[in-house]
Amino acid sequence: MTHTDVADRRVLLAAPRGYCAGVVRAVNTVEKALELYGAPVYVRHEIVHNKYVVKTLEKQGAVFVDETDQIPEGATVIFSAHGVAPIVHQNAAARRLEAIDATCPLVTKVHREAVRFAHDDYDILLIGHEGHEEVIGTTGEAPDRIILVDGPEQAATVEVRNPGKVAWLSQTTLSLDETLATVAVLKNRFPQLVSPPSDDICYATQNRQTAVKQLSTDAELVLVVGSKNSSNSVRLVEVAQEAGARDAHLIDHAQQIDEGWLAGVRTVGLTSGASAPEVLVEEVLAWLADRGFQHVEVVQAAEENQHFALPRNLSRHQSATPGTDR
Ligand code: SF4
Repeated sequence: MTHTDVADRRVLLAAPRGYCAGVVRAVNTVEKALELYGAPVYVRHEIVHNKYVVKTLEKQGAVFVDETDQIPEGATVIFSAHGVAPIVHQNAAARRLEAIDATCPLVTKVHREAVRFAHDDYDILLIGHEGHEEVIGTTGEAPDRIILVDGPEQAATVEVRNPGKVAWLSQTTLSLDETLATVAVLKNRFPQLVSPPSDDICYATQNRQTAVKQLSTDAELVLVVGSKNSSNSVRLVEVAQEAGARDAHLIDHAQQIDEGWLAGVRTVGLTSGASAPEVLVEEVLAWLADRGFQHVEVVQAAEENQHFALPRNLSRHQSATPGTDR
């Protein structure tokens, strides 16, 4: 491997990076439920898309299941941050499960928009990735009215009942630029296309993309800490490549870094997806420091101070349970 001078080597560390307010709330929900009810607490699907987080919660007593019929009647179930279709709530109620909904409030906002547009008899073009849990949950709010549009190519061919009555919504974790390109195609085809009242791509996704874009003009190698099934993390790799990074990789943890990636590299960009804990970033920084990348500069693209309260039924239990007032 060709080495650069140690004196030239540096890390550009993106800010914001890592946990968003929706992930903090979802992880805290599982931890608080374990504290209040004791193990096991059942969680439908991965609470957030990160292997490390899921394994850590499993060790504490969380049991992750695919469907509510795998949960004993009367037990407690937590729904993940990505949101669920109404049918999942109905199935849980039929099994007398105590449901705690950790759906991110910004996903719930998109669900409400879907319900309102469907009520007003719009066809809803949902921009998103087929099979993603959030898309499945949102589609479940109005399955007869929602049509998935996965990128500009599908936007060019999608058919609707009435071109004069069409609205678009999107998954919260998409690439901002690609979504704008998709919307442009749709607007061209359906001039009366109605937009959501506010951005569906959430603040955390946007800020992390802005930060990685900024550092990718200077970094030859960009490392994104996140799991493969984390949509916003995968988008960060794509944004880095589009912004000029010579090389960009998604890694779950430092052990997945290939030494060969550092050949000829002077500047490494580092960021993490919205579901990746900071401890994993610290491990990558230590790994890089061991290889001469000790100088770290923060690239700050935005300040974040968003906070979401815990789900209401969990807070209720919390205030009704003596000694759990923290
Ligand atoms: S990425 Fe955005 S929508 Fe998803 S949980 Fe975080 S804040 Fe909520």
